[in-house]
Amino acid sequence: MGMGNRMRAPYGRETRRWAAVLKMLCPRCRQARVFKELFKMHRECPRCGLKFEREPGYFLGAMYISYGLGAGLVLAGMALLRLFTDLSFHWVFGIMVALLWLATPWIFRYSRVLFMYTERGFFGGGD
Ligand SMILES: [Zn+2]
Repeated sequence: MGMGNRMRAPYGRETRRWAAVLKMLCPRCRQARVFKELFKMHRECPRCGLKFEREPGYFLGAMYISYGLGAGLVLAGMALLRLFTDLSFHWVFGIMVALLWLATPWIFRYSRVLFMYTERGFFGGGD
């Protein structure tokens, strides 16, 4: 008893937080989805009423996260292709452009979700 439980609780909470991010659930109640369509968010949480876009321009901050996600994806993808294939740079570049294009909706969605979780202090601290 004691130690075991105390060690497990924070880990479980952290895991649940990331699971909610992956599923793109509301940062407050983590019950309802943030997006209603591919590129369209709910104005507020259908479950707890949290207003997702706090003020006009709120999601400009998410652009930095989306740059980061995009750059990370391209760099990681290029590194993997260069390491494990003999493709020329032109092929690698072309594949990465296509991959980035395909990933755009997901980068858009996850950057907004990550931004909300970060900005509202749901990582480390507030719960
Ligand atoms: Zn909610």
